[in-house]
Amino acid sequence: MINHLCVIGVGLIGGSLALALKKSACVKQVTGLGRSIENLQKAKELGIIDQYETDYAKAISQADMVFVAVPVSAMADVFKKIQPCLNKQAIVTDGGSAKQAVIDVATEALGTKINQFIPGHPIAGTEQSGAEAAFGSLYTDRRVILTPIKENSVEDIKKVRDMWKKTGAEVDEMEAHHHDLVLAGTSHLPHVLAFALVDCLNNVDDVDEIFKYAAGGFRDFTRIASSDPVMWRDICVNNSEAILAMMQNYQQEIDNLKKAIENSNSDELLEIFSNAKKARDTFCM
Ligand code: NAP
Repeated sequence: MINHLCVIGVGLIGGSLALALKKSACVKQVTGLGRSIENLQKAKELGIIDQYETDYAKAISQADMVFVAVPVSAMADVFKKIQPCLNKQAIVTDGGSAKQAVIDVATEALGTKINQFIPGHPIAGTEQSGAEAAFGSLYTDRRVILTPIKENSVEDIKKVRDMWKKTGAEVDEMEAHHHDLVLAGTSHLPHVLAFALVDCLNNVDDVDEIFKYAAGGFRDFTRIASSDPVMWRDICVNNSEAILAMMQNYQQEIDNLKKAIENSNSDELLEIFSNAKKARDTFCM
């Protein structure tokens, strides 16, 4: 049981965790902390948080669990503000989509309290943002990856694991660099490609006509280009090495396809498309 959860950044990810824990009755009290009173007020009206604070000392000193769910580039500043207020028994965890960059800024900001930070990343989301986007079943049957650091205790990792399990999620553990590489391929690259495709089409002549005839396939492929630009800018900046490596692989694949199309190489095209269909049908059921 969590006595007092403090959620910093009550948006889709932070708000959904609070709602899920409330639903499973394993948190007594939730305080929201953030920049805009408007968003915090909305979160209170929606029953996501019980009260809100803008003062870190008041909110953090009473918490036994602190969940940081702000955009990745805002985390350094948030950890600096948490550091002086964090009591010895409290645990800090996060939902940031890039893990090594978050660990680096947390290590610098939290200093001797770094052992209290257990990094995490729920593999769940939508393209909506803010408190109004939060919903209690977001993590049901989804995965959460924890990327513990050597300073963490087994007991604290277990507490974070147990918290996520109460939301209906399955919890895995991974080394942070490995997480960043895997997610660069399965999440970060697809978002970059969706943003790039929509931007590319938006810049051609007859843009109105192109979007007028956009059908299901275009909508499926580009839904994620409606995601928050700030969040995705931050992920690209903070996981650049792994994303660039994946882009390089993808570039190679595009070059192969381009050559096959130029040469009317039907066999090559059929092989690439068949391999891709087989892989997707196998892994994404
Ligand atoms: P969100 O809905 O926009 O919520 C983020 C919240 O953080 C906002 O409500 C905002 O609240 C606060 N915030 C924004 N900028 C801030 C800043 N500079 N300083 C302090 N607070 C700030 O975003 P989200 O989708 O929940 O994403 C939160 C984190 O989860 C990100 O690190 C993201 O990488 C990660 N994540 C997202 C997804 C996804 O699909 N969306 C999935 C997994 C992980 P106030 O306006 O009240 O400050």
